[in-house]
Amino acid sequence: MAENKNRWNWEVSGFEPRKTSSSSSSTSPFDRPEDQRPAVAPLVRRYSISATSVSPHSPEISRQALATKVQRLKDKLKFRTVVHWHQSLLGDPILLGLSRYQGRSRVANLSWGHSLSFSTLLFSLAKEDYLGLRQEASDLQEYSNAKLDRVTRYLGVLAEKTHKLDQVAIETEARISPLINEKKRLFNDLLTSKGNIKVFCRTRPLFEDEGHSVVEFPDDCTIRVNTRDDSISNPKKDFEFDRVYGPHVGQAELFSDVQPLVQSGLDGFNVSIFAYGQTHSGKTHTMVPSLSLPPWEGSSHDRGLYARCFEELFDLSNSDSTSTSQFKFSVTVFELYNEQIRDLLSESGSSLSMVRLGTAESFIELVQEKVDNPLEFSKVLKSAFQSRGNDVLKFNVSHLIIMIHIYYNNLITGENTYSKLSLVDLAGSEGLITEDDSGERVTDLLHVMKSLSALGDVLSSLTSRKDIVPYENSMLTKVFADSLGTKFFFLCA
Ligand code: ADP
Repeated sequence: MAENKNRWNWEVSGFEPRKTSSSSSSTSPFDRPEDQRPAVAPLVRRYSISATSVSPHSPEISRQALATKVQRLKDKLKFRTVVHWHQSLLGDPILLGLSRYQGRSRVANLSWGHSLSFSTLLFSLAKEDYLGLRQEASDLQEYSNAKLDRVTRYLGVLAEKTHKLDQVAIETEARISPLINEKKRLFNDLLTSKGNIKVFCRTRPLFEDEGHSVVEFPDDCTIRVNTRDDSISNPKKDFEFDRVYGPHVGQAELFSDVQPLVQSGLDGFNVSIFAYGQTHSGKTHTMVPSLSLPPWEGSSHDRGLYARCFEELFDLSNSDSTSTSQFKFSVTVFELYNEQIRDLLSESGSSLSMVRLGTAESFIELVQEKVDNPLEFSKVLKSAFQSRGNDVLKFNVSHLIIMIHIYYNNLITGENTYSKLSLVDLAGSEGLITEDDSGERVTDLLHVMKSLSALGDVLSSLTSRKDIVPYENSMLTKVFADSLGTKFFFLCA
């Protein structure tokens, strides 16, 4: 009987709960006609209604109380009507689960007693929800339209401002362009105040079997050589250069003096850097530390001029480029052996763009490989070095020339410039021919001597400002006919 205590009293006047035989079904009760819906399960009491508020004997009062309660319930249910069936609670489809709401059972109980249509109540609540949601949706729509409108207007303002800034940038660039050109000219004047040709001297550390050093360095520009000629009172002779580097001077320090020339190359002047000296004096080391440690191993502090010059060009061009002006680079690598040119990139195959070297009357065409960054530059060099082979003896009698072509284009001023930075590892300057030398070796050495002597003649003509410069006397000077007149850095090792 304890169970009965928790049961609703269904004995409300005018209402007799429907009794059906079965209460279990897997089909939703809403899918079936009312008379076939499942039996009512015992309703668990949760809330009770006081006898005074609901008296089966005073229908008028009860109706009023009911109306008040329904209204209160409605308020509570506002916008949150969730109807779900809870068969174990009610069992009758009309009393759709208002289980979430306080007073649910009371409403159910009372409604039966006073013929209140719960369907109507639910419908009106649902309708209220629907109208509320519709209003909310319409408010949201209005709000988002207003926002969108504001954002669109803001974007328009931004676009206009960007356009104006572009315009200002273009005007500024046009205004500063003559100043930049003036700066380039002044920088060049400064660099060449002592002439277009600079000669630096670098000495390398001695190997163990080379005995004691015979040189001293009295200052940055002088090297004192002990001739060991006892017949003269002072066997020590001084030689002056634009700069002298002792054996302790590393690649980075040497490059700090080369750097202004790289800037000059970027400014539109042709620059040539030659490493001249006897075999084994350190020419190749200055350009590229060792053939077994090629320039593509860029992280080494020993990096030579090839790698450092291109990296500097690349960095300077990045800082000098604007949205309307840019630099482009390409590389040519070739060897000059016995007056013959061997293009070391002709087999690279990736690009066959050609470039002319020399003068309009006398020129040669070589492959130029486009390079966009130091890594690509290293890759091109690697491929060229592989084409060159491993014949070290031949390296000593051939000139290796690396040219970096610099193309500059300014969309505002319409300025288009082309310049080149050439790095040359010359053949050994010893020129000593011995009786033991083979015919082939003699021919090689003679060609080297001839080309180096032609280079000397050209430089001599340039420094003495002669009208005619004998570029045509060798292939080496021919390919530099458009470069040697501008800037020349001569590195004696
Ligand atoms: P070259 O190209 O003039 O024939 P190398 O550049 O091959 O001479 O140099 C000869 C040797 O001397 C190489 O073993 C090189 O590593 C070494 N060498 C040259 N210059 C330096 C230097 N400044 N510091 C250390 N070693 C050097």
